[in-house]
Amino acid sequence: MDLGSGFDRERHVFFLQMMADGLPAEYQTQEANHLTLAYFAVSGLALLDALDRVDKEQVASWVLSFQAYPRDKTDLDDGQFYGFHGSKTSQFTDDSNVSSHNGSHLASTYCALAILKTVGYDLSSIDPEMISASMRNLQQCDGSFMPTHIGAEKDLRFLYCAAAICFMLNDWSGMDREKAKEYILQCQSYDGGFGLVPGSESHGGATYCAVAALRLMGFIEADVLSKSTESCVIDIPLLVEWSLQRQGLDGGFQGRANKPSDTCYAFWIGSVLKILGAYHFVDRCALRRFLLSCQSQYGGITKFAEDMLPELYHSYFGFSALSLLEEPGLKPLCVELGVVVSNDIAL
Ligand SMILES: [Zn+2]
Repeated sequence: MDLGSGFDRERHVFFLQMMADGLPAEYQTQEANHLTLAYFAVSGLALLDALDRVDKEQVASWVLSFQAYPRDKTDLDDGQFYGFHGSKTSQFTDDSNVSSHNGSHLASTYCALAILKTVGYDLSSIDPEMISASMRNLQQCDGSFMPTHIGAEKDLRFLYCAAAICFMLNDWSGMDREKAKEYILQCQSYDGGFGLVPGSESHGGATYCAVAALRLMGFIEADVLSKSTESCVIDIPLLVEWSLQRQGLDGGFQGRANKPSDTCYAFWIGSVLKILGAYHFVDRCALRRFLLSCQSQYGGITKFAEDMLPELYHSYFGFSALSLLEEPGLKPLCVELGVVVSNDIAL
C-alpha cells in the first residue's frame, strides 16, 4: 500500500515493538525459528534507532537461555554441535538442568550472536571453544555445512552462518576456510550468480551468502571492483552484471530471472553490489520509490506493493534495503554480518 513518498518511521517502530513484545499467534507455528524472529524484531529496532524500546539486559539473558551445553567436556567429542537452540521446545533439560536433547542449529546460533551483539552484550564472555570445536562436526568433506548434527540439507546458507559465527566469535577454528571457499566457488553459475548448491540456478539469497561469506573469510577485498579483479577468486564482472540485471522496471529487485520484484532482494542483491563496490550503478531513486510503495498502513514493509499485511521477514529486509539507500531515520548496516554498524566491527 502506498502511503505517499515518505518513510513512516514511527509507524514502523510501533510495528516492530509490537512484534518484540509478543509475537502474534500466526507466528506460533514457526516457533522452531523463535530466535530468528527475535533477530528480525531486535535488529530492526536497532536499524530504526529505537533500541530503547526493549530491555537490552532482559533480551540478552533470554537469548543466552537458548544456549546448549554438553553434560561434560568429554561430550564435546560426541559429534554434536553445541550452539543455540531455535526454540524452547527443541531444548529439554533433565533434573540437573543440563540439556538432554540438543536442537542446536547454525541459523539459530547466528541469530543469537547477532542479537547479543546488537544489544551490546560482550561476546568475548562466551566461550568460543565449545561452539567452534563442535561446529567442526558440521562441515562436510566438500566444504559445505549441515545446520544440525543430526544431518539435513547442506547448502550455502549454513556455510554463511558458520562464517558469520566465526567472525563474531573472532575464532576461525570452527571451519576449514579453504574447503569452504572451494565449495562456494563451485556454486558460481555460468551467468555469474550463485546457486545454493553446485550446479543449481543463480539466486539472490544464495549469491548474498556466497559473497558475504567470502568477504568475512577474507577472500575478497572491500570495493573489489575499484581494484584489479583479475586475481579475484570469483568472476566479479559477470557477477556484477548478473546482479544489476535483477533490478526491474518498477525499481525493485527480483531474486531470479523471470520473477517479480520482491522487497527482500533489494537487500540480498543490494548487499552484494555494496560489498563489491558497485552499488552506485543501482537506480536508487526507482528502488526507493518501490520500497516506499511496499510500506504497510499497519507499519512494516510487505513483500509486494499489493500485499496488505506485513510480516517480520520482509519488513526487516525492507528496512535493511532502505538503510543501504541511506534513508534518513535508519542506521547504517554492516551488510556482511547483518547487524547495525558498531565501532568494534573491523572488516
Ligand atoms: Zn522475499
